[in-house]
Amino acid sequence: MYENLKAKAHELLEIFQNAADYTDTATLETILETNHFQIKVIDIEYACYLENIIFCGRKDEISYRHNLAHEIAHIYLHCTLFSLSHPPNYKNEAQAEAFAAFLLLPSPAFEEDLMNQMGDKALSDKYQAPLHLIKVRKRICRPELRRKMHNTEPDEF
Ligand SMILES: [Zn+2]
Repeated sequence: MYENLKAKAHELLEIFQNAADYTDTATLETILETNHFQIKVIDIEYACYLENIIFCGRKDEISYRHNLAHEIAHIYLHCTLFSLSHPPNYKNEAQAEAFAAFLLLPSPAFEEDLMNQMGDKALSDKYQAPLHLIKVRKRICRPELRRKMHNTEPDEF
């Protein structure tokens, strides 16, 4: 399941930006605009849709980027027609978070930083992504990293 999400996220990054190791905020906005979504920044914590308008909080840059990446995930993974009345679906939410993690923390740059023992806070600063998303992304790539680092104790990551 994650391989599929990762491939889709990287496909998007390839189409919309050249540098593969950091996802610009402008790239996220362009992906939404290309899909005919208008972004309206309002005073809310998260983001939601109403037809083709995304109402999005921008408490700080990291939360704004996360909100955009999360909504892009819903558009690409789940269909474009969401509304405020759409009931929450936990499987979709988990998928959207994993997709957002791949979008904001691209491979192989993120894995390389992990191999170099970069801490969560430093990763959050470098990629401008929230700490909880760093944890999601680490959990996803843990098995792969274990295979690469033979002598690492299982709970190191
Ligand atoms: Zn969602």
